[in-house]
Amino acid sequence: MDKLCINEVFLKDKRVFIRADFNVPVNGEGNITDDTRIREVLPSINYALDEGAKVILASHMGRPRGKVDSHLSLNIVAKRLSRLLGKQVKFVNDCVGDEVKQVVEDLQPGDIILLENLRFHPEERQNDAGFSKELASFADVYVNDAFATAHRCHASNVGITKYVPYAVAGFLMVKEIQYFERAMQNPVRPLVAILGGAKVSGKIGVIENLLKKVDKVIIGGGMTFTFLKALGYEVGKSLVEDDMLKTATRVMKVAKERQVKFYLPVDCVVADKFDPRAETKVVPVQEVPKQWSALDIGPASTTLFSEVLQNAKTIIWNGPMGVFEMDAFSRGTMAMVNMVANSYALTIVGGGDTDVAVHRAGESYKISYISTGGGAFLQLLEGKQLPGITALTNKGA
Ligand code: AMP
Repeated sequence: MDKLCINEVFLKDKRVFIRADFNVPVNGEGNITDDTRIREVLPSINYALDEGAKVILASHMGRPRGKVDSHLSLNIVAKRLSRLLGKQVKFVNDCVGDEVKQVVEDLQPGDIILLENLRFHPEERQNDAGFSKELASFADVYVNDAFATAHRCHASNVGITKYVPYAVAGFLMVKEIQYFERAMQNPVRPLVAILGGAKVSGKIGVIENLLKKVDKVIIGGGMTFTFLKALGYEVGKSLVEDDMLKTATRVMKVAKERQVKFYLPVDCVVADKFDPRAETKVVPVQEVPKQWSALDIGPASTTLFSEVLQNAKTIIWNGPMGVFEMDAFSRGTMAMVNMVANSYALTIVGGGDTDVAVHRAGESYKISYISTGGGAFLQLLEGKQLPGITALTNKGA
Protein backbone atom coordinates (compact mmCIF):
# COMPACT_ATOMS: atom_id res chain seq x y z
CA MET A 1 0.00 0.00 0.00
CA ASP A 2 1.73 3.19 -1.16
CA LYS A 3 -0.70 5.58 0.54
CA LEU A 4 -0.30 7.23 3.94
CA CYS A 5 -2.25 5.51 6.69
CA ILE A 6 -4.05 7.03 9.67
CA ASN A 7 -1.35 5.81 12.09
CA GLU A 8 1.39 7.59 10.13
CA VAL A 9 0.18 11.13 10.80
CA PHE A 10 -0.04 13.25 13.95
CA LEU A 11 -3.63 13.46 15.23
CA LYS A 12 -3.44 14.99 18.72
CA ASP A 13 -5.72 18.03 19.05
CA LYS A 14 -6.36 17.93 15.28
CA ARG A 15 -9.77 18.03 13.61
CA VAL A 16 -9.84 14.59 12.01
CA PHE A 17 -12.49 14.25 9.31
CA ILE A 18 -13.29 10.56 8.69
CA ARG A 19 -15.27 9.70 5.54
CA ALA A 20 -16.95 6.42 6.41
CA ASP A 21 -19.49 4.29 4.57
CA PHE A 22 -22.39 3.97 6.99
CA ASN A 23 -24.78 3.00 4.21
CA VAL A 24 -26.34 0.24 6.32
CA PRO A 25 -29.57 -1.68 5.60
CA VAL A 26 -32.58 -0.30 7.48
CA ASN A 27 -35.97 -2.09 7.73
CA GLY A 28 -39.48 -0.63 7.41
CA GLU A 29 -39.56 0.22 11.14
CA GLY A 30 -36.39 2.29 10.79
CA ASN A 31 -34.10 -0.22 12.52
CA ILE A 32 -30.58 -1.04 11.33
CA THR A 33 -30.64 -4.72 10.35
CA ASP A 34 -26.88 -5.19 9.88
CA ASP A 35 -24.35 -2.82 11.43
CA THR A 36 -21.21 -4.48 10.01
CA ARG A 37 -20.25 -1.37 8.08
CA ILE A 38 -20.43 0.72 11.25
CA ARG A 39 -18.41 -1.76 13.30
CA GLU A 40 -15.73 -2.00 10.62
CA VAL A 41 -14.88 1.71 11.01
CA LEU A 42 -14.54 1.51 14.82
CA PRO A 43 -10.77 0.81 14.76
CA SER A 44 -10.09 4.10 12.94
CA ILE A 45 -12.52 6.05 15.12
CA ASN A 46 -11.15 4.61 18.35
CA TYR A 47 -7.58 5.23 17.22
CA ALA A 48 -8.31 8.90 16.45
CA LEU A 49 -10.10 9.35 19.81
CA ASP A 50 -7.27 7.64 21.71
CA GLU A 51 -4.77 9.94 20.03
CA GLY A 52 -6.72 12.94 21.34
CA ALA A 53 -8.28 14.06 18.06
CA LYS A 54 -11.53 15.95 17.51
CA VAL A 55 -13.43 13.51 15.31
CA ILE A 56 -15.84 14.53 12.56
CA LEU A 57 -17.61 11.64 10.80
CA ALA A 58 -19.30 11.92 7.42
CA SER A 59 -21.10 9.40 5.22
CA HIS A 60 -23.85 8.94 2.71
CA MET A 61 -26.90 6.72 3.10
CA GLY A 62 -28.98 5.42 0.22
CA ARG A 63 -29.83 7.49 -2.83
CA PRO A 64 -31.65 10.67 -1.79
CA ARG A 65 -30.81 12.30 -5.16
CA GLY A 66 -29.61 15.59 -3.76
CA LYS A 67 -32.67 16.24 -1.58
CA VAL A 68 -33.37 15.91 2.13
CA ASP A 69 -35.16 12.63 2.81
CA SER A 70 -35.88 11.93 6.47
CA HIS A 71 -35.93 8.15 5.80
CA LEU A 72 -32.27 8.40 4.83
CA SER A 73 -31.06 10.43 7.79
CA LEU A 74 -27.89 9.25 9.53
CA ASN A 75 -29.45 10.02 12.89
CA ILE A 76 -29.94 6.30 13.61
CA VAL A 77 -26.27 5.66 12.85
CA ALA A 78 -25.26 8.28 15.43
CA LYS A 79 -27.36 6.40 18.01
CA ARG A 80 -25.82 3.03 17.13
CA LEU A 81 -22.32 4.51 17.14
CA SER A 82 -22.91 6.06 20.58
CA ARG A 83 -23.85 2.62 21.86
CA LEU A 84 -20.94 0.84 20.20
CA LEU A 85 -18.40 3.42 21.40
CA GLY A 86 -19.94 3.86 24.85
CA LYS A 87 -19.71 7.59 24.24
CA GLN A 88 -22.08 10.23 22.93
CA VAL A 89 -21.79 10.87 19.21
CA LYS A 90 -23.40 14.23 18.58
CA PHE A 91 -25.50 14.30 15.44
CA VAL A 92 -25.46 17.48 13.32
CA ASN A 93 -28.46 18.14 11.06
CA ASP A 94 -26.44 19.05 7.98
CA CYS A 95 -22.97 18.36 6.60
CA VAL A 96 -22.12 21.94 5.57
CA GLY A 97 -23.23 25.43 6.63
CA ASP A 98 -22.93 27.72 9.63
CA GLU A 99 -24.29 25.28 12.21
CA VAL A 100 -21.70 22.66 11.28
CA LYS A 101 -18.97 25.30 11.31
CA GLN A 102 -19.92 26.36 14.82
CA VAL A 103 -20.15 22.80 16.15
CA VAL A 104 -16.74 21.97 14.66
CA GLU A 105 -15.23 25.12 16.18
CA ASP A 106 -16.53 24.13 19.61
CA LEU A 107 -15.08 20.60 19.46
CA GLN A 108 -12.68 19.54 22.20
CA PRO A 109 -10.11 16.72 21.90
CA GLY A 110 -11.92 13.40 22.39
CA ASP A 111 -15.25 14.79 21.10
CA ILE A 112 -16.99 13.09 18.19
CA ILE A 113 -19.76 14.24 15.86
CA LEU A 114 -21.56 12.71 12.88
CA LEU A 115 -22.70 14.96 10.03
CA GLU A 116 -25.97 14.43 8.15
CA ASN A 117 -26.13 12.45 4.88
CA LEU A 118 -23.69 13.97 2.38
CA ARG A 119 -25.97 13.09 -0.53
CA PHE A 120 -28.71 15.44 0.68
CA HIS A 121 -26.64 17.92 -1.34
CA PRO A 122 -26.40 17.29 -5.10
CA GLU A 123 -22.88 18.78 -5.02
CA GLU A 124 -21.60 15.64 -3.27
CA ARG A 125 -22.13 13.39 -6.26
CA GLN A 126 -21.11 16.16 -8.66
CA ASN A 127 -17.70 16.32 -6.96
CA ASP A 128 -18.33 20.07 -6.74
CA ALA A 129 -15.25 22.15 -5.88
CA GLY A 130 -17.05 24.61 -3.57
CA PHE A 131 -18.73 21.80 -1.61
CA SER A 132 -15.42 19.90 -1.41
CA LYS A 133 -13.67 23.02 -0.08
CA GLU A 134 -16.32 23.57 2.55
CA LEU A 135 -16.02 19.98 3.77
CA ALA A 136 -12.23 20.36 3.75
CA SER A 137 -12.50 23.51 5.88
CA PHE A 138 -13.58 21.25 8.79
CA ALA A 139 -10.47 19.07 8.53
CA ASP A 140 -6.84 19.26 9.57
CA VAL A 141 -6.44 15.61 8.62
CA TYR A 142 -8.73 13.79 6.20
CA VAL A 143 -9.17 10.03 6.60
CA ASN A 144 -10.93 7.90 4.01
CA ASP A 145 -12.25 4.68 5.53
CA ALA A 146 -15.11 4.27 3.05
CA PHE A 147 -13.84 1.43 0.89
CA ALA A 148 -17.33 0.61 -0.38
CA THR A 149 -17.56 4.09 -1.94
CA ALA A 150 -13.97 4.23 -3.26
CA HIS A 151 -15.06 3.51 -6.85
CA ARG A 152 -17.03 6.78 -6.87
CA CYS A 153 -15.55 10.16 -7.70
CA HIS A 154 -17.46 12.35 -5.24
CA ALA A 155 -16.71 15.50 -3.25
CA SER A 156 -16.25 13.74 0.10
CA ASN A 157 -13.80 11.14 -1.16
CA VAL A 158 -12.01 12.77 -4.12
CA GLY A 159 -12.71 16.53 -4.32
CA ILE A 160 -11.93 17.15 -0.65
CA THR A 161 -8.45 15.62 -0.91
CA LYS A 162 -7.22 18.62 -2.94
CA TYR A 163 -7.90 21.04 -0.11
CA VAL A 164 -6.51 19.22 2.94
CA PRO A 165 -2.88 18.94 4.05
CA TYR A 166 -3.11 15.13 4.39
CA ALA A 167 -5.54 12.62 2.95
CA VAL A 168 -4.83 9.26 4.54
CA ALA A 169 -6.33 5.77 4.48
CA GLY A 170 -8.19 4.46 7.53
CA PHE A 171 -7.59 0.97 8.91
CA LEU A 172 -10.56 -0.57 7.07
CA MET A 173 -9.37 0.81 3.76
CA VAL A 174 -5.87 -0.55 4.41
CA LYS A 175 -7.25 -3.97 5.38
CA GLU A 176 -9.38 -4.18 2.23
CA ILE A 177 -6.44 -3.33 -0.02
CA GLN A 178 -3.99 -5.60 1.76
CA TYR A 179 -6.22 -8.67 1.56
CA PHE A 180 -6.95 -7.96 -2.05
CA GLU A 181 -3.26 -7.58 -2.86
CA ARG A 182 -2.43 -10.81 -1.02
CA ALA A 183 -4.96 -12.65 -3.16
CA MET A 184 -4.27 -11.04 -6.51
CA GLN A 185 -0.72 -9.70 -6.67
CA ASN A 186 1.33 -12.45 -5.16
CA PRO A 187 -1.10 -15.26 -4.39
CA VAL A 188 -0.24 -18.62 -2.95
CA ARG A 189 -1.35 -20.94 -5.75
CA PRO A 190 -3.52 -22.58 -6.91
CA LEU A 191 -5.65 -19.43 -7.04
CA VAL A 192 -9.30 -20.21 -7.76
CA ALA A 193 -11.95 -17.64 -8.66
CA ILE A 194 -15.62 -18.45 -8.12
CA LEU A 195 -17.93 -16.23 -10.12
CA GLY A 196 -21.69 -16.31 -9.88
CA GLY A 197 -24.51 -13.83 -10.06
CA ALA A 198 -26.98 -12.92 -12.72
CA LYS A 199 -25.36 -11.87 -15.95
CA VAL A 200 -22.18 -12.27 -17.97
CA SER A 201 -22.44 -8.61 -19.03
CA GLY A 202 -22.19 -7.46 -15.40
CA LYS A 203 -19.04 -9.47 -14.75
CA ILE A 204 -17.25 -9.57 -18.09
CA GLY A 205 -14.56 -7.08 -17.00
CA VAL A 206 -13.93 -9.22 -13.94
CA ILE A 207 -13.79 -12.49 -15.89
CA GLU A 208 -11.37 -11.06 -18.46
CA ASN A 209 -9.06 -9.63 -15.82
CA LEU A 210 -9.14 -12.76 -13.66
CA LEU A 211 -8.23 -14.99 -16.59
CA LYS A 212 -4.82 -13.24 -16.54
CA LYS A 213 -4.25 -14.16 -12.92
CA VAL A 214 -6.03 -17.28 -11.73
CA ASP A 215 -5.39 -21.00 -12.16
CA LYS A 216 -9.03 -22.06 -12.16
CA VAL A 217 -12.41 -20.40 -12.63
CA ILE A 218 -15.70 -21.81 -11.36
CA ILE A 219 -18.82 -20.33 -12.95
CA GLY A 220 -22.25 -20.52 -11.33
CA GLY A 221 -25.46 -18.50 -11.16
CA GLY A 222 -27.48 -17.15 -14.04
CA MET A 223 -24.45 -16.41 -16.19
CA THR A 224 -23.86 -20.16 -16.55
CA PHE A 225 -26.59 -20.39 -19.16
CA THR A 226 -25.07 -17.91 -21.56
CA PHE A 227 -21.90 -20.04 -21.52
CA LEU A 228 -23.90 -23.26 -21.94
CA LYS A 229 -25.94 -21.82 -24.80
CA ALA A 230 -22.70 -20.68 -26.44
CA LEU A 231 -21.59 -24.35 -26.25
CA GLY A 232 -24.79 -25.36 -28.03
CA TYR A 233 -26.88 -26.61 -25.11
CA GLU A 234 -30.65 -26.20 -24.81
CA VAL A 235 -31.15 -23.92 -21.80
CA GLY A 236 -34.94 -23.61 -21.80
CA LYS A 237 -36.15 -20.37 -20.28
CA SER A 238 -33.02 -19.85 -18.17
CA LEU A 239 -31.44 -16.42 -18.03
CA VAL A 240 -29.46 -15.96 -21.25
CA GLU A 241 -27.87 -12.90 -22.81
CA ASP A 242 -27.94 -13.61 -26.52
CA ASP A 243 -25.77 -10.59 -27.24
CA MET A 244 -23.04 -12.09 -25.04
CA LEU A 245 -22.81 -15.49 -26.74
CA LYS A 246 -19.76 -14.53 -28.81
CA THR A 247 -18.12 -13.01 -25.74
CA ALA A 248 -18.79 -16.20 -23.79
CA THR A 249 -17.19 -18.27 -26.56
CA ARG A 250 -14.16 -15.95 -26.62
CA VAL A 251 -13.79 -16.16 -22.82
CA MET A 252 -13.73 -19.97 -22.95
CA LYS A 253 -11.18 -19.87 -25.79
CA VAL A 254 -8.91 -17.45 -23.89
CA ALA A 255 -9.15 -19.64 -20.78
CA LYS A 256 -8.02 -22.62 -22.82
CA GLU A 257 -5.14 -20.71 -24.42
CA ARG A 258 -3.95 -19.52 -21.02
CA GLN A 259 -4.39 -22.99 -19.56
CA VAL A 260 -6.83 -21.68 -16.98
CA LYS A 261 -9.15 -24.51 -15.95
CA PHE A 262 -12.71 -23.38 -16.61
CA TYR A 263 -15.55 -25.17 -14.78
CA LEU A 264 -19.25 -24.87 -15.54
CA PRO A 265 -22.03 -26.61 -13.58
CA VAL A 266 -22.88 -30.10 -14.78
CA ASP A 267 -26.39 -30.19 -13.37
CA CYS A 268 -28.96 -27.68 -12.20
CA VAL A 269 -32.22 -27.21 -10.33
CA VAL A 270 -34.91 -26.29 -12.85
CA ALA A 271 -38.28 -24.75 -12.06
CA ASP A 272 -41.49 -24.47 -14.08
CA LYS A 273 -41.80 -20.84 -13.00
CA PHE A 274 -39.83 -18.14 -11.18
CA ASP A 275 -41.60 -18.69 -7.90
CA PRO A 276 -40.65 -20.09 -4.47
CA ARG A 277 -43.51 -22.62 -4.83
CA ALA A 278 -42.63 -23.68 -8.35
CA GLU A 279 -42.39 -27.31 -9.30
CA THR A 280 -38.68 -28.20 -9.37
CA LYS A 281 -36.38 -31.02 -10.38
CA VAL A 282 -32.67 -31.67 -10.72
CA VAL A 283 -31.45 -32.38 -14.25
CA PRO A 284 -28.09 -32.63 -16.03
CA VAL A 285 -27.35 -29.38 -17.92
CA GLN A 286 -27.89 -31.35 -21.15
CA GLU A 287 -31.51 -31.92 -20.20
CA VAL A 288 -33.02 -28.56 -19.27
CA PRO A 289 -36.68 -28.78 -20.36
CA LYS A 290 -37.69 -26.20 -22.97
CA GLN A 291 -40.30 -24.39 -20.84
CA TRP A 292 -38.33 -24.48 -17.56
CA SER A 293 -35.69 -22.18 -16.03
CA ALA A 294 -32.52 -23.27 -14.25
CA LEU A 295 -32.34 -21.37 -10.97
CA ASP A 296 -29.58 -23.13 -9.01
CA ILE A 297 -26.66 -25.48 -9.46
CA GLY A 298 -27.36 -29.13 -8.69
CA PRO A 299 -25.72 -31.67 -6.33
CA ALA A 300 -23.34 -33.09 -8.96
CA SER A 301 -21.99 -29.58 -9.60
CA THR A 302 -21.47 -29.13 -5.87
CA THR A 303 -19.45 -32.35 -5.79
CA LEU A 304 -17.44 -31.27 -8.84
CA PHE A 305 -16.74 -27.82 -7.41
CA SER A 306 -15.70 -29.28 -4.08
CA GLU A 307 -13.07 -31.38 -5.91
CA VAL A 308 -11.89 -28.26 -7.74
CA LEU A 309 -11.50 -26.42 -4.45
CA GLN A 310 -9.75 -29.34 -2.70
CA ASN A 311 -6.19 -28.15 -3.25
CA ALA A 312 -6.87 -24.41 -3.62
CA LYS A 313 -4.57 -22.17 -1.59
CA THR A 314 -6.31 -18.91 -2.42
CA ILE A 315 -10.01 -18.51 -3.23
CA ILE A 316 -11.74 -15.35 -4.34
CA TRP A 317 -15.53 -15.45 -4.63
CA ASN A 318 -18.13 -13.08 -6.01
CA GLY A 319 -21.75 -13.84 -6.81
CA PRO A 320 -24.29 -16.49 -5.73
CA MET A 321 -24.66 -19.88 -7.45
CA GLY A 322 -28.41 -19.49 -7.85
CA VAL A 323 -31.46 -17.46 -6.87
CA PHE A 324 -30.48 -17.90 -3.24
CA GLU A 325 -33.07 -15.36 -2.05
CA MET A 326 -35.65 -18.18 -2.47
CA ASP A 327 -35.04 -21.19 -0.22
CA ALA A 328 -35.85 -23.63 -3.02
CA PHE A 329 -32.86 -22.31 -5.02
CA SER A 330 -30.40 -21.52 -2.24
CA ARG A 331 -28.81 -24.94 -1.71
CA GLY A 332 -26.06 -24.49 -4.27
CA THR A 333 -24.96 -21.17 -2.80
CA MET A 334 -25.15 -22.49 0.76
CA ALA A 335 -23.10 -25.55 -0.21
CA MET A 336 -20.53 -23.24 -1.79
CA VAL A 337 -20.37 -21.15 1.40
CA ASN A 338 -19.69 -24.35 3.28
CA MET A 339 -16.96 -25.50 0.91
CA VAL A 340 -15.20 -22.13 0.88
CA ALA A 341 -15.51 -21.74 4.65
CA ASN A 342 -14.04 -25.18 5.30
CA SER A 343 -11.24 -25.01 2.77
CA TYR A 344 -7.60 -24.64 3.80
CA ALA A 345 -7.16 -21.62 1.55
CA LEU A 346 -6.97 -17.89 2.09
CA THR A 347 -10.57 -17.04 1.30
CA ILE A 348 -11.83 -13.65 0.18
CA VAL A 349 -15.49 -12.99 -0.45
CA GLY A 350 -16.91 -9.78 -1.86
CA GLY A 351 -19.92 -8.30 -3.53
CA GLY A 352 -23.22 -7.52 -1.78
CA ASP A 353 -25.05 -10.76 -2.39
CA THR A 354 -22.16 -13.05 -1.62
CA ASP A 355 -21.57 -11.65 1.84
CA VAL A 356 -25.30 -11.83 2.55
CA ALA A 357 -25.18 -15.55 1.69
CA VAL A 358 -22.13 -16.15 3.89
CA HIS A 359 -23.74 -14.39 6.84
CA ARG A 360 -27.01 -16.22 6.33
CA ALA A 361 -25.18 -19.54 6.41
CA GLY A 362 -23.58 -18.52 9.72
CA GLU A 363 -20.12 -19.23 8.34
CA SER A 364 -18.70 -15.70 8.15
CA TYR A 365 -16.22 -16.29 10.96
CA LYS A 366 -14.53 -19.02 8.88
CA ILE A 367 -13.86 -16.78 5.88
CA SER A 368 -10.45 -15.06 5.88
CA TYR A 369 -11.87 -11.79 4.67
CA ILE A 370 -15.30 -10.51 3.68
CA SER A 371 -15.06 -7.25 1.78
CA THR A 372 -17.40 -4.40 2.75
CA GLY A 373 -17.43 -3.25 -0.89
CA GLY A 374 -19.77 -4.35 -3.66
CA GLY A 375 -19.03 -2.16 -6.67
CA ALA A 376 -15.62 -1.18 -5.32
CA PHE A 377 -14.63 -4.83 -4.86
CA LEU A 378 -15.77 -5.65 -8.39
CA GLN A 379 -13.75 -2.77 -9.82
CA LEU A 380 -10.64 -4.05 -8.06
CA LEU A 381 -11.36 -7.49 -9.54
CA GLU A 382 -11.57 -5.81 -12.93
CA GLY A 383 -8.05 -4.51 -12.36
CA LYS A 384 -9.19 -0.88 -12.20
CA GLN A 385 -7.86 1.88 -9.98
CA LEU A 386 -10.34 3.24 -7.44
CA PRO A 387 -10.53 7.08 -7.53
CA GLY A 388 -11.07 7.31 -3.77
CA ILE A 389 -7.78 5.50 -3.18
CA THR A 390 -5.80 7.17 -5.97
CA ALA A 391 -6.68 10.58 -4.46
CA LEU A 392 -5.00 9.80 -1.11
CA THR A 393 -1.55 11.16 -0.19
CA ASN A 394 1.36 8.96 -1.23
CA LYS A 395 3.77 7.75 1.44
CA GLY A 396 6.82 10.03 1.50
CA ALA A 397 4.97 12.88 -0.26
P1 AMP B 1 -25.13 -10.16 -9.32
O1 AMP B 1 -25.63 -8.86 -8.76
O2 AMP B 1 -24.76 -10.10 -10.75
O3 AMP B 1 -24.03 -10.77 -8.45
O4 AMP B 1 -26.36 -11.15 -9.29
C1 AMP B 1 -26.97 -11.57 -8.11
C2 AMP B 1 -28.33 -12.09 -8.46
O5 AMP B 1 -28.22 -13.14 -9.38
C3 AMP B 1 -29.08 -12.63 -7.28
O6 AMP B 1 -30.15 -11.77 -6.98
C4 AMP B 1 -29.59 -13.98 -7.76
O7 AMP B 1 -30.95 -14.21 -7.48
C5 AMP B 1 -29.37 -13.91 -9.26
N1 AMP B 1 -29.19 -15.24 -9.85
C6 AMP B 1 -28.32 -16.18 -9.48
N2 AMP B 1 -28.49 -17.30 -10.20
C7 AMP B 1 -29.51 -17.06 -11.07
C8 AMP B 1 -30.17 -17.84 -12.05
N3 AMP B 1 -29.80 -19.12 -12.31
N4 AMP B 1 -31.18 -17.27 -12.73
C9 AMP B 1 -31.56 -16.01 -12.48
N5 AMP B 1 -30.98 -15.22 -11.56
C10 AMP B 1 -29.95 -15.75 -10.84
